[in-house]
Amino acid sequence: MVEKAGADVIHLDVMDGCFVPNISIGIPVVASLRNKSSLPFDCHLMIINPEKYVGEFIKAGANWVSIHHEASENPSRVLATIRQAGAKAGIVLKPQTPVEVLEDYVDDFDFVLLMSVNPGFGGQKFMPEVLDRIRTLVSIRQRAKKHFLIEVDGGINLENAKALIQAGADVLVAGHSIFRSANPAEAIKEFKSIEYLAS
Ligand code: ZN
Repeated sequence: MVEKAGADVIHLDVMDGCFVPNISIGIPVVASLRNKSSLPFDCHLMIINPEKYVGEFIKAGANWVSIHHEASENPSRVLATIRQAGAKAGIVLKPQTPVEVLEDYVDDFDFVLLMSVNPGFGGQKFMPEVLDRIRTLVSIRQRAKKHFLIEVDGGINLENAKALIQAGADVLVAGHSIFRSANPAEAIKEFKSIEYLAS
């Protein structure tokens, strides 16, 4: 349904009950979903010790893999492992982590995922502070002459999507605003029409 309605990517939230208090899907679920869709799988790893698992997620079918800056002592090394395995490497920041931390390893990722809620549960309220964080990241990207994508995750709906795109977001993650809507396919189409208006 989401593929037919025009979604670009399937975002899969992986939670370990340790980095975040909740437990969600793991490697076997990603593998079992793989033959259901030809869309890229974007695995957002909210887990400690991500270096132990990134390879298995890619083998299971992840095309984009993101790890938390806060979950790794050496994110650059883990990002390099993701790239070597043939996936797009992403770095995720919690709402409280300054985006400037990324300036130290701006060559090492293909996308940045900014959280607009505290990670761990779906259905939380959007934090508008992320808009300024997107703008700061756009200027860091310009200064560094890089082309990484800016993805935003948490509490995104049809009301705040346009402001996110205008601030510079390239990829929007929508959960409840699609899957809990009366007509999910229509909700996806409405999101896509906002994107086209902005571009
Ligand atoms: Zn996510």
